[in-house]
Amino acid sequence: MTDLKDKRALVTGGSRGIGKSIVEELAAMGCSVVFTYQSSEEAAKVIETEHAALGRKVLGFKADAASFDEAQKAVEFTVQNLGGCDFLVNNAGITRDKFLMMMKESDFTDVIDANLKSVFNYTKAVIKPMMSQRFGRIVNISSVVGITGNAGQANYAASKAGMIGFTKSIAKEVASRNITCNAVAPGFIQTDMTAKLKDEIKQELLNHIPLKALGESSHVAKTVAFLLSPAADYITGQVIAVDGGMTM
Ligand code: NAP
Repeated sequence: MTDLKDKRALVTGGSRGIGKSIVEELAAMGCSVVFTYQSSEEAAKVIETEHAALGRKVLGFKADAASFDEAQKAVEFTVQNLGGCDFLVNNAGITRDKFLMMMKESDFTDVIDANLKSVFNYTKAVIKPMMSQRFGRIVNISSVVGITGNAGQANYAASKAGMIGFTKSIAKEVASRNITCNAVAPGFIQTDMTAKLKDEIKQELLNHIPLKALGESSHVAKTVAFLLSPAADYITGQVIAVDGGMTM
């Protein structure tokens, strides 16, 4: 396993699902980690305690990813408590699935703010310290839906496609400072976000997955860890699908 000892990471939305797995993967590789959450205070405390028992530095921080000011505070907290920030993983995200006919303005803006504006908020807050230290690794958790689109997810697909454009633009802007920026596009991963889908929809999705299995959070977490590791030093501006072959 690659050693990420002495590296400092900030992961948004680390209290559940994919974000929680990313925190676990990075902490297991020796990284110290701050993760944010919005409402899962109790889950965050449990995560902190479990990692502390293993001698790992993992700290939760309550911050709404959609808020520019709170993102600034989360980055300040990270720099103060970990001594800096080498890795940023923009993972926090929500869905408000509805066909356009039924979609309210707030369904659209809430999703854009939580999923896309959050990426601006955190990247903007972290880019100065990363540029000063001439090192940084940023990974944005997009979605295959940002590449293919999906009926009933115009808001979500727009936010995830926006993340891809943002990723490539930032990759070009900061490459000369030894900062990389990549996106991961998960397919169907079993988390709270997808648990609400009906069994027949899950079966229909499975029919379109060549590897014939739904994805797990750890599949995404391991890809993120790779992109943050020295093995990916020469990779930037890319979108890696973790989808069992669904979008090839
Ligand atoms: P999840 O199980 O619903 O967990 C979402 C996480 O994001 C939670 O930790 C939640 O915090 C946090 N969060 C949500 N809104 C937030 C906000 N405004 N501020 C701060 N934290 C916020 O979701 P998931 O399935 O793990 O998804 C994680 C990411 O992967 C999302 O960006 C999602 O779009 C993307 N993705 C997921 C799938 C999939 O199949 N699951 C596929 C493609 C892409 P609380 O616990 O406090 O609510």
